[in-house]
Amino acid sequence: MSDRGKRILITGGAGFLGSHLCERLLREGHEVLCVDNFYTSTRRNITHLLEHPCFELMRHDVTLPLHVEVDQIYNMACPASPIHYQRDPVQTTKTSVHGAINMLGLAKRTGARILQASTSEVYGDPQVHPQSENYWGNVSPIGVRSCYDEGKRCAETLFFDYWRQHNLPIKVARIFNTYGPKMLPDDGRVVSNFIVQALAGSDITIYGDGSQSRSFCYVDDLVEGLIRLMESEEALTGPINLGNPSEYSISELATKVVNMTNSRSKIVYAPLPQDDPTRRQPDITRAKAELGWEPGIELDEGLKPTIDYFQAQV
Ligand code: NAD
Ligand code: UDP
Repeated sequence: MSDRGKRILITGGAGFLGSHLCERLLREGHEVLCVDNFYTSTRRNITHLLEHPCFELMRHDVTLPLHVEVDQIYNMACPASPIHYQRDPVQTTKTSVHGAINMLGLAKRTGARILQASTSEVYGDPQVHPQSENYWGNVSPIGVRSCYDEGKRCAETLFFDYWRQHNLPIKVARIFNTYGPKMLPDDGRVVSNFIVQALAGSDITIYGDGSQSRSFCYVDDLVEGLIRLMESEEALTGPINLGNPSEYSISELATKVVNMTNSRSKIVYAPLPQDDPTRRQPDITRAKAELGWEPGIELDEGLKPTIDYFQAQV
């Protein structure tokens, strides 16, 4: 197989991360097949790609089998924002688990390399800080976040069983909170919520007291990490953490967004959602050593183009 011109399937390709990945892989000269059921996206993120001779869009739900010929699969399909994955929790688990089975089956038939977009949520509300890949996590199997957390954990299990049982070339990335342009204004995750609220001059809603933390990675850094993992030597299966280790409290993020948008919004406090993790920070020692990867875009730098993007939507 040559380094250029691979046939690459991206499930969830119209979503936030998927659409950035489509753009980047097309720029690198690959053929991209974007598969999406538009559960948490619209065609808008990929409309500009529709005329590209190497881009194809297919409306399809990954809980159903798919028969196509490809060299690589990025399995990104799954609602990622808590309000959206909790809207239809049974469908969320099906998307993670049946979706993984269907895409692994496709990889087995075609011999394609397959990368799973897993998540820091597999660590749950972590008792180890920062989180490294050998930590098994602290996850409720019966809570409101479990459809997502346990769905993603089961998907990882399936990936490793296909690897052990069928020798499939797998790659598992554990993605930590990532933000950037092309998130939907009603996505519901914290960065887009705060920016949209600040630009509209409406109240900034901090859930809980704002002392909980997250570590925010800019989308371009993340996409680079995903591609490096996909292209890494076959023996490197992961799981491998991809995220920015700079940790911020949610209050710090709110203040930053208010200042950067010169907003007159006031900060208000709302109840903390059930099972909301207290702290989250990736240990990226493995990504640095195995992929030569680390994020280069810090929060202030990444918030600028993200704010500009939302400003242009108004
Ligand atoms: P997103 O909601 O913007 O994108 C998900 C895409 O998957 C959407 O286009 C949606 O319509 C599609 N989709 C959902 N269910 C589907 C189904 N059954 N069949 C086909 N398509 C379906 O979210 P995102 O932030 O781009 O996340 C992409 C992937 O990365 C997800 O798997 C998510 O779990 C993972 N991830 C993202 C983050 C992050 O911070 N952005 C962090 C950890 C993991
Ligand atoms: N959050 C908040 N206000 C919002 C949206 C989210 O305070 O309008 C908080 C949320 O409770 C959590 C953190 O921000 O503690 C990150 O939430 P997000 O939904 O972005 O991602 P996740 O909880 O999955 O990391």
